[in-house]
Amino acid sequence: MSTLSKQKRIAIIGAGPGGLMLALLLQRRGLQPVVYERAPHDLNAESGGSLDIHEESGQKALRDAGLYEKFSELARYGDQDFRVLDNSGTFYIDETADDENPGDRPEIDRGILSKLILESLDTSCIRYGHQLEEAVPLDNGSTQLRFANGAVEEVDLLVGADGAFSRVRALLSDTEVEYSGVTMVELHIPEAAKTHPDLAEFNKRGKMFAMGDHKCIIGQLNGDGRIRVYVSLQVQQDWLETCGIPFDQPTEAKRRLLDLFHDWDERVKNYIRCAEDTILPRRIYMLPIGYTWERRPGVTLIGDAAHLMSPFAGEGVNLALLDAAELANAIHEQKTIAEAVASYEQNMYAYSSEKARQSDESLRLCFSDNAAAKLSEMMSQFEETPPIVEGPADVL
Ligand SMILES: Cc1cc2nc3c(=O)[nH]c(=O)nc-3n(C[C@H](O)[C@H](O)[C@H](O)COP(=O)(O)OP(=O)(O)OC[C@H]3O[C@@H](n4cnc5c(N)ncnc54)[C@H](O)[C@@H]3O)c2cc1C
Repeated sequence: MSTLSKQKRIAIIGAGPGGLMLALLLQRRGLQPVVYERAPHDLNAESGGSLDIHEESGQKALRDAGLYEKFSELARYGDQDFRVLDNSGTFYIDETADDENPGDRPEIDRGILSKLILESLDTSCIRYGHQLEEAVPLDNGSTQLRFANGAVEEVDLLVGADGAFSRVRALLSDTEVEYSGVTMVELHIPEAAKTHPDLAEFNKRGKMFAMGDHKCIIGQLNGDGRIRVYVSLQVQQDWLETCGIPFDQPTEAKRRLLDLFHDWDERVKNYIRCAEDTILPRRIYMLPIGYTWERRPGVTLIGDAAHLMSPFAGEGVNLALLDAAELANAIHEQKTIAEAVASYEQNMYAYSSEKARQSDESLRLCFSDNAAAKLSEMMSQFEETPPIVEGPADVL
């Protein structure tokens, strides 16, 4: 049981993986947080692909929540194959996960992960359809929350788990997210083994990275058999508007995307050719590496809201889960909310800034000259000495 009074009102904004995990961990310590989510119901299954869950962060939080065993049953330990080739089709890495001795970063789909957390949570604490518009500090030290649906609440601790474009962040600093220099176009190949067996065989059970020419095509096998494709381009921030590709006309958009890769290996181009009509273009944003804010005793941030980074080291969801575990521990151990926030933030700044630096390095490597060769060289160094710094093998 937490030493903090059960009467303290704790609001978590956002029911992504970070917000849900924090709510569960606080409930397990006898507290009664309320989660406010703008979506009308759980939309996690629709908003992301397969995630590799790291031992020291995501898996740690799952252990704290008593969910590790169930997670192990659901996670796809065998889906850790990893292939890297260049635009001409030359392979630099071709690893097959060993079923007897699988890697320690098993995959799970975002929707399955959130369902796992939701099943253990007393979900009456979640208020769907509540979009936070404004958070206003009050003279008595608490914070007033104003929602788009007209609801108004007052809380002692406000936790922003509201993702990349966090509203809560504005209460703590003026810093805005920056464009990372990379734009991704997401495509889907559902039931790939049935609909495009050759491509499924080429992708194997895991991830395929084709890199060259300052571009990448990434194929990622998901738990439902779909291959999620990320066509990734190092382009100007306004490229989506200026490129002239009609993203609302899938056939033409795919033809125009293929033009960008006209001299690439045919097997790689198949990732665009075989995709169905769902096309999701998005710019990739990040917060400055080492981002911190001026401490405010009753307000803090977790997950992407605190340290948005590009997905090029596959850390985002892992850090969101770890932040939840660290903040829940601090609330449990410290006597006051102010002490808990101070202790959590000091700890979180240290590990998240290191991961943000690694993510940025991975991004730069993936879009550099001879990227596939460089990645392979870096990975082989890791094999000789156990990795201290994680490399882009964890990308996405
Ligand atoms: C293309 C892509 C691929 C990725 N691949 C990986 C990967 O392989 N591995 C990995 O670890 N990470 C990956 N990530 C990053 C990962 O998705 C995020 O880091 C992770 O989802 C962060 O979790 P979170 O709970 O902090 O925020 P989110 O998952 O963004 O959840 C925020 C929640 O807050 C809600 N919300 C937002 N604003 C408000 C508001 N004003 N009021 C109420 N609710 C609000 C949102 O609806 C949402 O439910 C990827 C990201 C992208 C873009």
